[in-house]
This record gives sequence, structure tokens and C-alpha cells, in this order.
Amino acid sequence: MKATEKQAIDWLERSLAKSPADFLGSNGSTCSRCGRAIPTAETRIRCFECGGDLCAYEPACNHKQRSLYRGFPLIEDPAELIPLARKHLADACYDRFHVNDSIWFSGFTVFINYLENRVTPSTEFAADLDGRSPDLVTWLDAHAHNVVSQWVSLKQMGRFVEYTDRRAIAGNLPDFFTSITAQGMNGPVMWAGRPTMRSVWDFALAPLIVNEIQPKTIIELGTASGGGTLLWADLQKLSGLTPHVVSMDIDPPEFEHEGITFLRGDSNRIDEGLPDDLLTSLPHPWLIIEDAHVNISGVLEHLDRFTQALDYLIVEDVEAESTLGPFFAARPGRYQVDTLFTDYFGHNATCAPDQIFRRAQ
Ligand SMILES: [Zn+2]
Ligand SMILES: [Zn+2]
Repeated sequence: MKATEKQAIDWLERSLAKSPADFLGSNGSTCSRCGRAIPTAETRIRCFECGGDLCAYEPACNHKQRSLYRGFPLIEDPAELIPLARKHLADACYDRFHVNDSIWFSGFTVFINYLENRVTPSTEFAADLDGRSPDLVTWLDAHAHNVVSQWVSLKQMGRFVEYTDRRAIAGNLPDFFTSITAQGMNGPVMWAGRPTMRSVWDFALAPLIVNEIQPKTIIELGTASGGGTLLWADLQKLSGLTPHVVSMDIDPPEFEHEGITFLRGDSNRIDEGLPDDLLTSLPHPWLIIEDAHVNISGVLEHLDRFTQALDYLIVEDVEAESTLGPFFAARPGRYQVDTLFTDYFGHNATCAPDQIFRRAQ
């Protein structure tokens, strides 16, 4: 066992009771008609208009705002699972570093080796676990398969996933307190001395996103004190781009910074806040951060007229399924969830669960 693999297992051994063994959490649904629990593997119908969530295909309401939520089959057979797990782990290293450069990847390697050892016992692997707490072996026996199966099944959906397919497995790995303390418990997550109103996960996602998508324009709706705005502009600069952030708020802050334009505007009158001639002039690709939670439907309808393929849209800090469902249902295939980012730190460990989108076409 490699040093980092040993470290990962040491941590697991010390914290067995608290270690999540279920990436997907309890995200099953209950049928609005018959009350039956609907497993994640089962396809169901959701109605955005009346909130109906039905276990059968026949409609129970006359609304048009219905969508098919395709079930999520888990890959369970070790013969299929183990090679796929090794492939996805290698992909997660971007072909640039080794699995043992990450303690999580190292721990995951042990889980895979454990599953492999159950099929083909190895004395080397047995020696690695020799002298360990019996609780650790019990934990691995009960959960290693589940952890590997859930992650591989998520990865098998592909990186870019239709919104309704993601919502069929709606849920997130972090619990409530972990989610909110990740925004800072002894102080907010800050950039250049200003609060960003971001979680540690979203703070870490920002440079990954900017570096990969290379946005020429970042449009932010909801500025607060401007910490996040500064972060976006500085990240553009650090990625070799010209900083260019347009940030709109009903009460924008009063400081100046290279590449940032603060606009006074109201999302309820978005066509005045971000007028057509302004949007037409902004170079693509865009990264749009919706963080005002006002008139999201109208904002998206307005911006959709100007977005292009490879633009990104992130809807933060609000559960917007009743708005996003009809919006995407009316535009099949146009936007997809980028699960590389939503799941970077665990299934939906972000303030934008299932709400980081790339325009595909
Ligand atoms: Zn039912
Ligand atoms: Zn309905």
C-alpha cells in the first residue's frame, strides 16, 4: 500500500462512524398519486406546474409542464465496475499526475483494490490490512462497493448531462451544517478583504472554471459588497485574460477595480439593467452568475437570446427547479449540467446543485 493510500485508510479507520458511504444520499422520491417510494433507478414524471411527482408514465394532471425524469441505474457487477473505476480514476488525474498525488484518489484506490481482492484474493492486499481494526474491514465490506458503484455510475452518465436526468437523482452529499459552515464559521470566505458569499467548494471551483472555460466576459447578477466580483476579475487576469466583469445590483458598491463595471439595475426589469445593445457588445464565451434570485425566469429568457454555444450559466444559492424545469423543457438539448464542476467535491457539493450549465448548441 502506498503512503497516501495508508494515510487515507488511517483517516477512514479513525472516523468510521462519520464517513459518508452514500454519495447519492436519500434522494428517492415519493409518488404524489399512490404514495409509493420511487427508487432512483425508476423513471418518473415530474410536473413543474402542480409539483406532481409520479411513479407511472400516464399523466395525472393536464398540465403541459411535465417532464420525464429518467431513472439512474447503478453499475454493480464487479466485472464491469472495477475496470470502469480505474479508468475514471485515471481520467480524474487529467493525464498529468498520479493517483497518489491525491489522498482521496489513494483511498478510492484502496476501495477498488478491496473489491478486486474479493473477486481474486491477494496475499499482498491481505497483508496491507493485517492488524487493522475489525471495524475497518466491516466498513469496507459494507460500503466500499457502494461508494465505488455510485461514483462510477455518476461518471458513466458523462460530463454534460440533461437537467432532468440530473434531477432524477437530485440530492447532495454534504449535510446542512457542512454546507453552511463551508461559507465560513469564524468569518466569511474572503477575497482581497471582502466577503465573497461563497462556500469553500465554490471558492475553489472558481479558478477551475475560469481556467478551463476562459470567459471573455463574466456577467454577475447580485453584487453584494463585491468580493466575488473582485475574485472573478482577478481570476481572469491570473488566467491570462483581460479582466472584464459586468456586475449588476439594485445597490452596487462604490469602489473601482480594473476590468469591473458595476451597473445599477433591477432583475425585475432586466431588459433595462442589461439592455440588448450592451449584451450584443460583450465578447464570448460568457460566464453568467445568477446570484440575485429575483425574476430568474425573466432573466434567463432575456439572456438566452444572446448566449452562444460554450457559454456558461451558474444559478447559485437557490433551488430553482420550478423555474429551470420549464425553461429547459422549452429548449431541449440547448443547455446541460456540467457535472465535472457540480460534483468536483462530491455529488452536488456546491451552492449551485445541478445548476452549473454549459450551452451546448
Ligand atoms: Zn404512483
Ligand atoms: Zn401538473
